Amino acid sequence: MSSHIMLTSHPRVRAGSAPAIRWGAAEARDRGPLIASLTQPAQRNAIGTHAGAYSVYRALAVAAGQLQRDHRPDLTDTSPAALIGPHPQWSEPDKIVSLDPWGHRVAEEFGALIAAGMDIRPTIAVTTAHINMPELQAAIAAGRLQPDGDILCANGDVRVTKAAIDPVWYLPGLAARFGIKEHELRRALFEQTGGMFPELVTRPDLQVFLPPIGGMTLYFFGDVAALGQPQTRVACRVHDECNGSDVFGSDICTCRPYLAHGIEVCIEMAQQGGVGLVIYNRKEGRALGEVTKFLVYNARKRQLGGDRAETYFERTECVAGVQDMRFQELMPDVFHWLGIRRIDRWTSMSNMKHGALVAAGIEVVERVPIPEALIPADARVEIDAKLAAGYFTPAAPPLEAELALAKGRGLHE
Ligand SMILES: [Zn+2]
Repeated sequence: MSSHIMLTSHPRVRAGSAPAIRWGAAEARDRGPLIASLTQPAQRNAIGTHAGAYSVYRALAVAAGQLQRDHRPDLTDTSPAALIGPHPQWSEPDKIVSLDPWGHRVAEEFGALIAAGMDIRPTIAVTTAHINMPELQAAIAAGRLQPDGDILCANGDVRVTKAAIDPVWYLPGLAARFGIKEHELRRALFEQTGGMFPELVTRPDLQVFLPPIGGMTLYFFGDVAALGQPQTRVACRVHDECNGSDVFGSDICTCRPYLAHGIEVCIEMAQQGGVGLVIYNRKEGRALGEVTKFLVYNARKRQLGGDRAETYFERTECVAGVQDMRFQELMPDVFHWLGIRRIDRWTSMSNMKHGALVAAGIEVVERVPIPEALIPADARVEIDAKLAAGYFTPAAPPLEAELALAKGRGLHE
């Protein structure tokens, strides 16, 4: 590689020398390989680079002299541990705009090009694991779950397949999804990242962007290959990251209890011959980030009148300017990737997630709320505020007088 700085915005190579991407093409070879590698500037047909937010660590490793900047992955034996797709949705117009449906199959589909020297990298990886959570052992002890020795063992071990997905944004499709002009989207992305990717505004011919953000992880329970068949029953929880609750068991929200309940429902579904699916999105604190989230916690607990449901969303908006930045409009893409057109048991109460699925043409048969017994006392503020805002509940939503009561702990309790 040259030691000169290469300006990606004004490449010296002539336009048209990189392979074309025909987003939404039915066959991988017609769609074309997605090349976001920095080792071959002339071949690049995407903006940004691989590994999402971790690309910045890669930069640090190169700067620190610990990584060769032209290192290329050896993909020997890395192929998916389970078959996913292709599904008809991969080529249905506008169905998938935020991930590369061929992202796990590049070594297979573009093997000859890779062998010929092209730097084509996976954006999706599929593997297997055993997981175990104290909540599952408790569910076995309480008789809610029965070990079967295959999907669920007596010690609480659960066999899963899991997939990690880096985001890949098809900019024209993304703009259409939000009903905005593509150049407006590109300009905002350019400006709001501090001008990190000049090609967003200088290279309208490059339509694919690998954003420097977190992706998602899927956990499958049961036979992944049965997805996409109309008779396959599916249970699902779409869970947006909440590190404080998910990992550390913080009791201010219902995140981990609902996640554990979702997994329980997924195991049941797999044991009945269906497929369970947990989708874990790296969208910490409604995609506002943890710093904002903790600022909001303080504001909620210090406000006059204490932490109460009626001001729950308002306190977030005061700090962040919005109540939520998760943009569920993009969430259904992963269901299209998996060939899912119907979800039989949907363990979520979010009206935004449900609305996004229905708008994307995915049928939701049964909505499964979090069992009351799983709601921590300090999380009552959150759940009441959400119910009042239109979250799904089979019971009546809380009354106004209820919402005005301070139910959360004080800051130093
Ligand atoms: Zn939470």
